Amino acid sequence: MGIEQNLTAMALIEALFPQGKRLDKAEASSIANSVDQYFDSIPGLSQGLTGLLTWLNARFLMSYGKTFAIAPLEQRQSFLAKNADSIVTGKLLRALETPFRAAYLLDEQNLKRVGTHNGLRVPSEVEQHRWQAQVSKADDLEFSQTLDADVVVIGTGAGGGAAAYELASRGLAVVILEEGQYHGRKDFNGKLTEVIPKLYRGWGGTVTLGNVVIPVPVGRSVGGTTTINSGTCMRTPDSVLKAWAGEGLEEFSSEIMAPYFESVEAMISVERAEIKFVGEIAEVVKKGADAVGFTQSHALMRNAKGCDGQGLCQFGCPTDAKQSTNVSYIPRALEAGAFLFTGMKAEEFHYSDVDADAGNGKNTRVINGVTAIGVGEDGIRRHLRVNADTVIVAAGTFFTPQLLAKNGIKNKWLGRNLSIHPAGAVLGHYADRNFKNTASIPQGYGVADWAEMGVMFEGGTPPFVAHGLMSPFVGNAFVEFAENYQQTAYFGFMIKDTSRGKVRKGVHPDIPLLTYNLNKTDFALFKKAAHMLALMHLEAGADKVTLASMSGLPSVSNREELDALFARKLKPRDFAVTAYHPLGTARIAKDKKHGVCDTNHQVFGVDGLYVMDGSAVPSSLGANPQVTIMAMATKAAAQIAEQKLNYV
Ligand SMILES: Cc1cc2nc3c(=O)[nH]c(=O)nc-3n(C[C@H](O)[C@H](O)[C@H](O)COP(=O)(O)OP(=O)(O)OC[C@H]3O[C@@H](n4cnc5c(N)ncnc54)[C@H](O)[C@@H]3O)c2cc1C
Repeated sequence: MGIEQNLTAMALIEALFPQGKRLDKAEASSIANSVDQYFDSIPGLSQGLTGLLTWLNARFLMSYGKTFAIAPLEQRQSFLAKNADSIVTGKLLRALETPFRAAYLLDEQNLKRVGTHNGLRVPSEVEQHRWQAQVSKADDLEFSQTLDADVVVIGTGAGGGAAAYELASRGLAVVILEEGQYHGRKDFNGKLTEVIPKLYRGWGGTVTLGNVVIPVPVGRSVGGTTTINSGTCMRTPDSVLKAWAGEGLEEFSSEIMAPYFESVEAMISVERAEIKFVGEIAEVVKKGADAVGFTQSHALMRNAKGCDGQGLCQFGCPTDAKQSTNVSYIPRALEAGAFLFTGMKAEEFHYSDVDADAGNGKNTRVINGVTAIGVGEDGIRRHLRVNADTVIVAAGTFFTPQLLAKNGIKNKWLGRNLSIHPAGAVLGHYADRNFKNTASIPQGYGVADWAEMGVMFEGGTPPFVAHGLMSPFVGNAFVEFAENYQQTAYFGFMIKDTSRGKVRKGVHPDIPLLTYNLNKTDFALFKKAAHMLALMHLEAGADKVTLASMSGLPSVSNREELDALFARKLKPRDFAVTAYHPLGTARIAKDKKHGVCDTNHQVFGVDGLYVMDGSAVPSSLGANPQVTIMAMATKAAAQIAEQKLNYV
């Protein structure tokens, strides 16, 4: 039986989406029909949803002595609102409501009424480039194939892209392995249900578990997470480089790093965002920042030349303006002769015999290749072995430590030291404004006055569907929140964390087990930033300010209400905490006691095995990390190239 025939589902839809000012009362059968269509494509989901609907009736029966399906509308709405915050019932209700909310928010009429859209028209054909001939999919391979190369690079994100280019452009034979597929501009149609499964690992379902559940999405396609990032570019703060030097990592001083930052910024065309495409949010934030005495508010530096504010950076840039590695480093590496194998997951490292290293009396392994496995469209596995004496792992902060551990690397730091830059958001409602939220740069403005304290204020406007899905509200309050999308100014912040988490193998290969507790110091800083941002909104003229929260913290309209809210005993899980910058799980250190890799990025104890991605970064940065990762990878790869070329 489909959802459309389920009376409980119909009763739930009616309770969730009543008549609003702009949005009509939901047509229950049409919403149920859309849910049926999405769920049919994923086995097991329909049964799960039906099970939750049965649970809803039983749970309601316990409270009211009748089933949810036949209860009066007001009673159903009050049950949903009352239980939204409860730890168990609230979570189950959220899981049950999410597909219906998504269908409602993706409804064409609703999108039109709030002045937005789900998707764009993209060109059916785009120009072909010569470098594309260097890209092979699993299907193009024989069932078992062996290649020789100078260097293998695993991963095509910030680190892998920069390393591959640096090595290939210096004349070395480079093979790049990427687990995800290549997608071009004609695939980036902004339809979230189509692009998210292509570009996000596990539909963006990677989360840390601890005193608050924190979504930390990562990418999987050519370009890695750069393909879905917001395009903000910042150098590593001097204070961080100095702190590293204090730990014996003098090789990363700002003088030494400067030419590498310059080379990265030139390659990815870093320039300040054009204020006309940042939109009205800039005006509001500047007004609030000025009023609280801040002086460092400005359009952000971005790698998006010619950006015209399509509002879709995190879903694949539809105009190729954003110079993520799929349009910058990787094509340039392929033009220089590198080969890229997509849909091929590096699985096994090959080592030559263990050397008894006479120098220090310790055994040193020597790497001599990698085997990657991919599945063709015919369902048959392809094995590709690449022989090379240099292997660069750039699989990202979650997957690099797992790949190393699986291949025999033992080090107490491996998988530990996870920092994430916990981020929060505060929404200001401005009745008389229209922020054109889907026609401006989602993250184009920032306030840096508290940078040294570890707080960076940056924008972060989500698309309409995400706006609605993040809403903690139910019934009338939900509909009002959704229809006010264009009057809502989103602004956020991230903190330089001192908390540290851990990465372990999860039950599903795409979803690692991530643990992370936001410690007291970080939570205090988080609250301070949220309070200040709320104040900025009030000063800028917002009539209502809402903290992004999963537990429905009440909105406030003035300073007294704001202070009263923060005088409550708030817990991390009261806030909607998200994070986008996982770092540090295979950290560089001066010796094996303090980290996994040496200052050349070589894994302690294995000749020829290097890590060049977010996992190698020694600590939290307090700045968006892509430029740091690219610059560190460029430096390390240049060193390898020099050694190899001099040796020849
Ligand atoms: C929504 C969002 C917004 C962001 N915004 C910004 C921003 O504005 N500015 C900024 O500086 N940073 C931003 N970031 C973060 C930034 O993009 C990442 O820090 C950076 O891309 C990480 O680089 P990386 O090389 O460590 O890994 P990734 O870029 O994640 O690349 C790793 C690649 O390795 C591949 N891989 C993994 N395992 C294997 C395997 N076994 N075999 C083959 N391939 C494998 C993956 O598929 C992936 O493509 C954002 C992130 C997100 C999620």
